[in-house]
Amino acid sequence: MAEANGARPANPLGVHALVWTGDWTPESARRAVESTVAAGYDLLELSLHDLTGIDTAGTRRLLAEAGIGLSCSRGLSFEADLSSPDPEVSTRGQALLEESLRVCAELGADRLCGALYGALGKYAAPATERGREHVVRGLADLASRAAELGITLGLEVVNRYESNLVNTAAEALRLIEDIGASNVDLHLDTYHMNIEERDFVSPVLRADDRLGYVHIGENHRGYLGSGHIDFGAFFHALAEIGYAGPITFESFSTAVVSPGLSSDLAVWRDLWDDGFDLAAHARRFIADQLAAAHR
Ligand code: MN
Repeated sequence: MAEANGARPANPLGVHALVWTGDWTPESARRAVESTVAAGYDLLELSLHDLTGIDTAGTRRLLAEAGIGLSCSRGLSFEADLSSPDPEVSTRGQALLEESLRVCAELGADRLCGALYGALGKYAAPATERGREHVVRGLADLASRAAELGITLGLEVVNRYESNLVNTAAEALRLIEDIGASNVDLHLDTYHMNIEERDFVSPVLRADDRLGYVHIGENHRGYLGSGHIDFGAFFHALAEIGYAGPITFESFSTAVVSPGLSSDLAVWRDLWDDGFDLAAHARRFIADQLAAAHR
């Protein structure tokens, strides 16, 4: 799709599948892929929170036909939490990650990102040293398997109500350093940054070339520009480091409900009801911000 003014953005622009659908039946997958293309995106992000019933071959074919890329994301659960100090719980988390990586490869995605290190939810206590050691060891193992499959792991920084281990870019970068694998990088999300970081610039500059994936979300996760996130500062920071990676729009509403994930993300109210209007608007908004930041 030609831009009205100037060139198409250099970054691949993505949209989270939960803007389109809460499940992944073959019909939903087709609709999600077609809507992604129609709204002008290059990339679809699929959450692997429910691995049952994903037709990987069919989805891969749909994506290839449409000419769009795929990234996969997920968080873990308190029953299968890599960051648990309990070895059994941690091992279940590791198994879930390995299964997710397998599905990610079958889908033809080159990236598995999100809160790979732990459960997506409010912890009752701070993270433990032992739990963090499980994460370092577990993700180092997963990264070597991912490298064989040509997949990069992105560690998403999330807010304190969704993790007790990785709330800031600085914490994630330390974790990435300890994991010590070249195919593990940083995944930032403006929604979470708004809660935990001092500003929208310093985490990006600190990450520099270790930034591999970006989620764009408003402070209330609705229409971009209808909240108070300082997108101008953030996009200028991305331009400053020459970020050329994917930028994926993430938004949730009760209009599209995925049982489980929606509740984990505390989606309790409507911020939109027309996913297409929302996504088309976000695509324009992001392209405009990128254009302005590169002036
Ligand atoms: Mn996110």
